Amino acid sequence: MKFGTKVIHAGVEPDPSTGAIMTPIFQTSTYVQEAPGVHKGYEYARTQNPTRDALQKNLAALENAQFCYCYATGLAATDAILKLFSPGDEIIATNDMYGGTYRLFMRIYAKFGLKFHFINMDSPENILPYINKNTKMIWIETPTNPMLNIIDIQAVSALAKQHNLITVVDNTFASPYLQNPLDLGATMVMHSLTKYISGHSDVVMGAVMTNDAQLAEQLKFIQNASGATPGPQDCFLVLRGVKTLHLRMERHSYNGRKIAEFLTQHPKVEHVYWCGLPTHKNHEIAKKQMRDFGGMISFTLKGDKMEDALKVLKNTHLFSLAESLGGVESLIGHPATMTHASIPREQRIANGLKDTLIRLSVGIEDVSDLIEDLAQAIEK
Ligand SMILES: *Cc1c(COP(=O)(O)O)cnc(C)c1O
Repeated sequence: MKFGTKVIHAGVEPDPSTGAIMTPIFQTSTYVQEAPGVHKGYEYARTQNPTRDALQKNLAALENAQFCYCYATGLAATDAILKLFSPGDEIIATNDMYGGTYRLFMRIYAKFGLKFHFINMDSPENILPYINKNTKMIWIETPTNPMLNIIDIQAVSALAKQHNLITVVDNTFASPYLQNPLDLGATMVMHSLTKYISGHSDVVMGAVMTNDAQLAEQLKFIQNASGATPGPQDCFLVLRGVKTLHLRMERHSYNGRKIAEFLTQHPKVEHVYWCGLPTHKNHEIAKKQMRDFGGMISFTLKGDKMEDALKVLKNTHLFSLAESLGGVESLIGHPATMTHASIPREQRIANGLKDTLIRLSVGIEDVSDLIEDLAQAIEK
């Protein structure tokens, strides 16, 4: 099955009791048993739920995985992955990552004895000096936030395999439509379903996909034993959203290209970060591992005045000022004062994150309206 067919049909069967074509919301906490232990595969809703089952099967198919487990949020999915490890284990992660992931690593799991190294993965060889007998996992996020750097998944996964390490890719920014990390050699892929996969900014949820049966067994155990499971209403919403993932990603990518081109030629814009531009420093890797380039764009204004960036943010009408990304509607944000405010200014600047950097999550509206909106806001 091709991607556009899978999003609609994979894992989804008409309901056997009624023929309902859409998976019902099984809003129940428990299931009646014929005799102790004799049941239809469902005992208690933390452990199994048919709405969640359908969603997990669907999402597994999108990442060409045999197994998928959903969790209450993206961070709960990452939390489940971290529970695979024991005190003393070491993890190597990219240094340009989602702030919440960094907080989970350092404020929660460092306390329980996991050790983290954050490194620049522009060149996979940078990882080698950090590998020792305690190293267990390499954590990649690509494209990164907000600099939209691209990491070579195939090269890092190959290096990890040589050293018997697990590679995990946070694939939230790309979505399975643009990029399939398991096909490139990664062991697990993690998603915040909150973003592109659900796509309508109306639910938070996370998932982990893998083809490793042993890891899958543990992830399933953790899902039930730790209990951060999503509710059936939310599973229904994600199932509903995912059916148009391919159409939305096509339009996000089309609009992304038009807006990146508009910004590139604008006299007040200094630099545009969009991995589909031939001028992007990792464009060749992006071309190799992604089907298209999506709707996440960052750009800086000429000059170093933060007020100039804040003025743009204040003056857009269609681009709403908000955190998050990946919904049908366009959002605009200012990483230096919003998502990345907790990082000291010197460190931010060293990572290339200037005070004039503006991040766009380009939605699927008519692109001429979006360009008009940006043009008038930058002009002010
Ligand atoms: C949002 C996000 C997360 C966390 O997901 P939640 O659903 O908000 O818990 C993790 N990684 C990336 C890249 C994200 O954008």
